[in-house]
Amino acid sequence: MHCLVRCTRASRLAATLLRAAWAAAALAALPAAAQDGQAALQRFEYVQVHMGVDFRLLFYAPDATSANRAAEAAFARVAELDAMMSDYEPESELMQLCATAGKGRAVPVSADLWRVLTHAQQLAEATDGAFDVSVGPFVRLWRQSRRQRKLPSPQLLEQARQAVGYQHVRLLPESRSVELTQPAMQLDLGGIAMGYAADAALQELREQGMPRALVDASGDIVVGDPPPDAAGWRIGVAPLDADQPPSRFLLLAHAAVTTSGDAFQHVEIGGQRYSHIIDPATGLGLTQPRSVTVIAPDGTTADSLATALCVLGPERGMEFIGKVPGAQALFIWRDGEQVCSRETPGFSARELPAGGEE
Ligand code: AMP
Ligand code: MG
Repeated sequence: MHCLVRCTRASRLAATLLRAAWAAAALAALPAAAQDGQAALQRFEYVQVHMGVDFRLLFYAPDATSANRAAEAAFARVAELDAMMSDYEPESELMQLCATAGKGRAVPVSADLWRVLTHAQQLAEATDGAFDVSVGPFVRLWRQSRRQRKLPSPQLLEQARQAVGYQHVRLLPESRSVELTQPAMQLDLGGIAMGYAADAALQELREQGMPRALVDASGDIVVGDPPPDAAGWRIGVAPLDADQPPSRFLLLAHAAVTTSGDAFQHVEIGGQRYSHIIDPATGLGLTQPRSVTVIAPDGTTADSLATALCVLGPERGMEFIGKVPGAQALFIWRDGEQVCSRETPGFSARELPAGGEE
C-alpha cells in the first residue's frame, strides 16, 4: 500500500538554506521486499531538495547498487533543469533569456526550455491568459507584499503590467529561439517547471531500468508502471485545509496528479488572504480559497493545468477542462462556512472506494 499526501511546499529561500543540510542525507535508501515475477524487487525511496521543494523518488529495483545509480541519474537530471529554469539564479538559461527582454532580438534556447515554453504558451492561448508564465513582475510584487505585509501601489502594479502578457513572448520554431518583446519582462516557470522536472525524472528512472516508479515533486506527482504487487500507486488527494489528512485516494499508473491552491502559500493583508497564484487580470494573488486537483497523462500538463484552473475558478474551469482530452479535475472551494466541490466524471473513476482500499 502506498500513500502519498501533498507535502508542504517550502519557501524557496528556506529551501535554499536547507539545501546544504539535505545534501548529506541525499542518497539514503529504504528497501522493502517485493516480488516481480521471478525476480525479487525491493522498494527504494530517496529525497533531495531541488527547485526549492522536496523531490521524492519511490521505485522498485533488484538491488541497492542499481537503485542508487538510478536515483543519482534522476536527481542529476532534475538539478540540470533547476539550473536551467530557476528565476533565482542570475546565470540560469531562463534569466539569461530575460536579460534580453525588449532588446529586439531572439535567443536560441535548449530543447527543455523550448518544450516548457511551447506548452506554457499553448495553455496561455487556450485559457485567454489565465495561465501566463510572463507574470514574473507580478510575482515579484507579491513576494514584496509578503515581506512587507502591504499591497503594491497602483503605480507599481501598472508599471509591472507593462512587462506582463503572454502575447509578448514570441516563439520562433524554425530557429528554436525566443524573443521577449517588452523591456523588463520576467518569466516565471513556477507553475509548470516542477511537473516537467518530475516527468524528466520518471523518464530517467525508466531509462535506468526502473519503470515501476513514482516521482513526487512536493505535490506534483507522476507515476510509471505500478508496484509489483498492485494495480497502481495509491495517492491521497490534498484537502482544502493544509492540516487535514486526505479523505479521498486515487489509484494511478502511467499518469500524473497535481494539486494547486493557496493552502500552503498565501499572505494575509488587511484581513484578506492572497494566494501565490496570480490572477493576471488584476496582478494580485487570488483571494478565493480554493484548491484544484488535476489528473493528466503527464506532469507538465497536470502542473500547468492545476495552476490555470485555480485562476479560472470552478465555473469557467469546469467548462475548460471538459475540452482537454485525458484530463480530469476536482475543484474544492469555500463559500462562507461551507466547503463546496465539483469534479469531472472521470475523476471519481480513478478513485479507490471509501476507506481507500484497493
Ligand atoms: P503552482 O503551485 O503549480 O500552482 O504554481 C504557482 C506558481 O506559479 C507561483 O508561485 C508562480 O511562480 C507561478 N504563477 C503564479 N500565477 C501564475 C499564473 N497565473 N500563470 C502561470 N504561473 C503562475
Ligand atoms: Mg502548477
